[in-house]
This record gives sequence, structure tokens and C-alpha cells, in this order.
Amino acid sequence: MTELRIAIVGFGKIARDQHVPAIAATPGVKLAAIASRNASLPDLPHFTTLEDLLRDGPPIDAVALCTPPQVRRVQAAAALAAGRHVMLEKPPGATVSELDPLIASAALGGRTLFATWHSRFAPAVEPARRWLASRRIDSVEVNWKEDVRVWHPGQGWIWEPGGFGVFDPGINALSILTHILPRPLFVTAAELDFPSNRAAPIAARLALTDDAGLPVTAEFDFRQTGPQSWDIIVQTDRGPLTLCGGTRLVASGEVLIDATETEYCGVYRRFVDLTATGASDVDLTPLQLVADAFLLGRRHTVEPFED
Ligand code: NAP
Repeated sequence: MTELRIAIVGFGKIARDQHVPAIAATPGVKLAAIASRNASLPDLPHFTTLEDLLRDGPPIDAVALCTPPQVRRVQAAAALAAGRHVMLEKPPGATVSELDPLIASAALGGRTLFATWHSRFAPAVEPARRWLASRRIDSVEVNWKEDVRVWHPGQGWIWEPGGFGVFDPGINALSILTHILPRPLFVTAAELDFPSNRAAPIAARLALTDDAGLPVTAEFDFRQTGPQSWDIIVQTDRGPLTLCGGTRLVASGEVLIDATETEYCGVYRRFVDLTATGASDVDLTPLQLVADAFLLGRRHTVEPFED
């Protein structure tokens, strides 16, 4: 098998914490270069921009775009135009509509565009989907609350337009929900808390439903100190299912999964498989739900947030 030579673009927290080790652990893919303005790795070709890399760099087959969402569309378009496969970190874009031209470009060039939803690769998610498939689902509650100072230190882009604020982690919960529930969801109401000095929400409360009237609530909060919560609780006709952080699954009082996190190895295995045929995988459903929350949301101004 020919190895997929990949370059990471935007060498920040997720690139270091997850992409580098996952690439090293995945057969069929090799890290060949980095394009990042301020960061590099020893012994690896480094370029300040993607354009420099495409022009002067070593041969590469693919790029993993780990930059903030506001700048990814231009980078994805350039990489696809240059005949490279593209992996997009989540969320796949700063808007929903910017994805259409990228999907078309990938299809035209026979290249892979993969909009990753890393949380869907957590070990308890697929078992949760299977467990729910044979139950009547009565209600769903999401509590996704984390300390932004711990998980996103100094990430100014997250507070800018297109940075998503608390929906940056919240969209992970929505990516899991839209995978494990049997019917499509839509937003019916949203309350969004914006710090007075920021352009993105620090907290959000959503009501969602499906065509059968399933009641779904989701609470996202960036101000959580102490214990963090990434929990989805589903009430069913045969007892509750609790999914914690995508790694622990308790159903009807029984612990079915209690595993360590291996999401990004699954992400890279999927990318290698897709690139073998040039197929794409772009599910925009979680992004559409966030966009709808912004469309429907009632905005509240709350105290300023300083990093
Ligand atoms: P980050 O630490 O800020 O890293 C992003 C990197 O992109 C920066 O270090 C910067 O590197 C580069 N960059 C920043 N602004 C740029 C700009 N305007 N133009 C070009 N490059 C720019 O952010 P991150 O946490 O890794 O998140 C990146 C993406 O991954 C986000 O979409 C996020 O949702 C997703 N993600 C993050 C996590 C997490 O836990 N942090 C988990 C999963 C997914 P240079 O200054 O060197 O160019």
C-alpha cells in the first residue's frame, strides 16, 4: 500500500495533542510537512503558509486543516485546486454555504473532502447508537459544560465572528446526537449568552425536536469550573442511557463501555480509506443545527469575559 503523505496546516493545540500521535499510530499515512506561521517540528519540512508549502514543499497527497474555522475555506479551496485530499477539523467551516463549492471542487477533481466529527469516533458512541436503535426514545438531555480557560487558553479566534464560542465544543455534542438518534433533529428555541466584550456566545440553551415530537434539551456552558461535564442522557422505554464524554456508556444501570479515548486514530483510518477511492464524507447536519440556533436564538448580554 502506498503511504498517504500528509501535511498539517495550523500547528496548534489539536494538531499537537491529537493529529501528530494519531498519524504516527495509523498505518498508511505519514506526516510529511507542516505549514504554520509560528510553529514547527524538528526534522520536518516547515513552511509559513499553505501556499508556500504547495509551491516549494516536498510532495504531499493530502492536508489536514487544523486552523480556526474562519480561515479554512480558502485553504481547502487552494489544496483541492492543487489536487490534494483535504481533511477539515470540526466545525467544517465558518458558514454552511461555503462548503458547497468545496464539495463540488473535490468531486470534480476526484479528491477526498472529509469533514471530520471526531466525537463520533469515541468508543462508546457507536454502541450507544446500536443500543438506542431497538428502544423507544422518550427524551434527551445534553449537558456540555467545560472551562474555556482550561481547554481553549488564549484562543482569541473562538470569540470572533465565525469562531462559534461555546458552540465550538457544543457542536461535538450535536455531532454525537445526530449520529445516535434515529430521526433528524431541528432547533425549536435557543437562548444565547454573549459576553458584552465578545462576538460569540459563552453559554447557550437549546430546545430541539424531531418529526415525532421528541423533547431534546441541550445546555452548553464555557464557565464551568470544577468537574466538567460532557454528558448525554437518553430516557427510553427500557431505562436510561448515559453517555459520558463519548467514552463511558451506562445503559439500564449497567456499564457497557468504559474505555480510553481513541477518536483521532479512527478519524485517520477513515481518511485513509476515503482517499483510496477519492470519495468524500461531508455531513453538515451539526453545523446546520448551530446555524439555526444563531438564527432562532434570543440573545442576552452577560458580563465581559477576560482570558
Ligand atoms: P489553536 O490552538 O488556536 O491552533 C490553531 C492554529 O492555527 C494556531 O496555533 C495558528 O498556528 C493557526 N492559526 C490561527 N489563526 C490563524 C489564522 N488567522 N490564519 C492562519 N492560521 C492561523 O486551536 P485548536 O484548539 O488547535 O483548534 C483548531 C481547530 O481544531 C478548531 O476548529 C477546533 O474546533 C478544532 N478542535 C480543537 C480541539 C481542542 O481540544 N483544542 C479538539 C477538536 C477539534 P500559527 O500561528 O503557527 O499559524
